[in-house]
Amino acid sequence: MYDIIIVGAGTAGLSAAIYGVRAGKSVLVLEASVYGGQIINTPEIENYPGIKHISGYEFATNLYEQAKELGAEIQFEKVIGIRSDNDTKIVITESQEYECKSIILATGAKNKPLGLKQENELIGAGISYCATCDGAFYRGKDVAVIGGGNTALEDANFLSAYCNKVYIIHRRDKFRGEEKILNTLKKKHNVEFLLNSQVKELLSDGSLTGIMLQEKNTDNQRRLDIKGLFIAIGQIPENLMFSEHVELDQGGYIVGKEDCKTKEDGIFVAGDCRTKTVRQLATAASDGAIAALAACEYIG
Ligand code: NAP
Repeated sequence: MYDIIIVGAGTAGLSAAIYGVRAGKSVLVLEASVYGGQIINTPEIENYPGIKHISGYEFATNLYEQAKELGAEIQFEKVIGIRSDNDTKIVITESQEYECKSIILATGAKNKPLGLKQENELIGAGISYCATCDGAFYRGKDVAVIGGGNTALEDANFLSAYCNKVYIIHRRDKFRGEEKILNTLKKKHNVEFLLNSQVKELLSDGSLTGIMLQEKNTDNQRRLDIKGLFIAIGQIPENLMFSEHVELDQGGYIVGKEDCKTKEDGIFVAGDCRTKTVRQLATAASDGAIAALAACEYIG
């Protein structure tokens, strides 16, 4: 019987683990794939207070090692559901069940697809959701990044260092991403902005050979001959398996306020999977601390 089981080893989950073990609780973190969550794919972080520059990979690895060294148990198993039996909570994975007194859901979110024909088949053959992981395959080539948030801008910046040409395609003329990185990109000779544009079609001969773009409110179409398309259009949460215990909003996020409590006593929510307006590294870490301390108070 663990005191706290945390579902997800991203920034929120691992921060919660650190706070849980430091409060003297037994903590198990369950992660379906790799530790770190989304931040592991960010080339460079320079907005986490107290750390001037760090790569997403190094940040995530530090967090993982810190949680382990402090005494958190971390298992790589996919959680497929939860159950409550009076005061005992049961977390069900693909291979076994674990009992605990409280649960923190820190499932984050996964990359949102564009939903275009052939998008799935071309993953690894021109389509990527991670510039840091796959960018090196496109050295000297022409590529495009789609999206208008920080991820798209950071990906474009990363790719511009070794691709021949980087197009940034955004469906509006205003970006969500930070002004500082936008200004950096505007000064780069090999970066071109294609605004008010949407990808209409993927072109391929087995691998991506190009895309067709449609300009908003006009009949204008444009063909871009590119070898790589980096899709950075946000994330979608995956919380349906918990819907009998927690409330989900229309987008599938777990309803929880700043106290990280859900509608069921003993179940808490932390990080990007929670209903919130600011999804940042700092707010994910903050949620982890709040959820863990709330769980400690609940356990008593
Ligand atoms: P995001 O901020 O949600 O931006 C997604 C972008 O994709 C938006 O510009 C959106 O357009 C566009 N988009 C969404 N659906 C689309 C579609 N079907 N077709 C075309 N475009 C579409 O996502 P994100 O950039 O991944 O960032 C997620 C969160 O993580 C943000 O809070 C971000 O600040 C944070 N983040 C932080 C860092 C950092 O701190 N270093 C790094 C990366 C991300 P509209 O603008 O028109 O809606």
